Amino acid sequence: MRKPLFIGNWKMNLTGSEATDLAKKITMSLGSVEDVDVAIAPSYLAMRPVSSIVSASRIELCSQDLHWEDKGPFTGEVSGAMLAELRVKYVIVGHSERRRNFGETDLMINMKIDAALRNNLIPIACLGEKGEERLAGKTINVVRKQMNALLEGITPDQARNINLAYEPVWAIGTGHNATPEQAQEVHKFLRDQLTKRFGEVAREMHILYGGSVRPDNIYDLMMQPDIDGALVGSSSLDAEHFSAIVRYRDRKPAAV
Ligand code: PEP
Repeated sequence: MRKPLFIGNWKMNLTGSEATDLAKKITMSLGSVEDVDVAIAPSYLAMRPVSSIVSASRIELCSQDLHWEDKGPFTGEVSGAMLAELRVKYVIVGHSERRRNFGETDLMINMKIDAALRNNLIPIACLGEKGEERLAGKTINVVRKQMNALLEGITPDQARNINLAYEPVWAIGTGHNATPEQAQEVHKFLRDQLTKRFGEVAREMHILYGGSVRPDNIYDLMMQPDIDGALVGSSSLDAEHFSAIVRYRDRKPAAV
């Protein structure tokens, strides 16, 4: 049974003091929430103060990225070993903003997954098609190719500690989420591919959905059998919205 997982990706949006304020609000609201796992992804600079705020709660820390080497001459980069020391649990790799703005390739992301596992971090590996690829009917081919490249050389034992995030690029930060049916189609495809590759282990792997998740659309998304949680951008910057997303079960429509 996969426990739902929700990760708030704060991106480059908050100063240190803004990040600690938001972490306090989220911890007050969700610090003892049960039946789901929750993590927040502050900037590197805010990681240490936010870590001390969430340490006594059930909220975990997630990094927005890491470098594929553990140390060395990589000016400006942060390694898995540095994150692990701060008790970071998850790390996002291959976010489409990093692919687009920083030229990240599937090979780099594959190496980052390896670095995360080496440092006992759980990678959240992002993939998803662009708008024009969906319109051209190429969605499944695109995500198949990305998934194969990202998971190249990964063993079933390693796969147990890897999560995927399906994030259609056209849905990120646009207010236009994939419909539950569109998302489920891709999640089911990914689960089938994972099963072919890793057997039973695929049932343990989380596949998160990301792309304009809000309090009003999360319930229907979470009702899909292969959607195991969400990677949340904009809505995670508002403690009330993020809490409502995590507590999606409370929004269950009344029975008719
Ligand atoms: C994201 O950046 O991963 C994301 C899903 O953003 P948003 O929720 O704002 O679409």
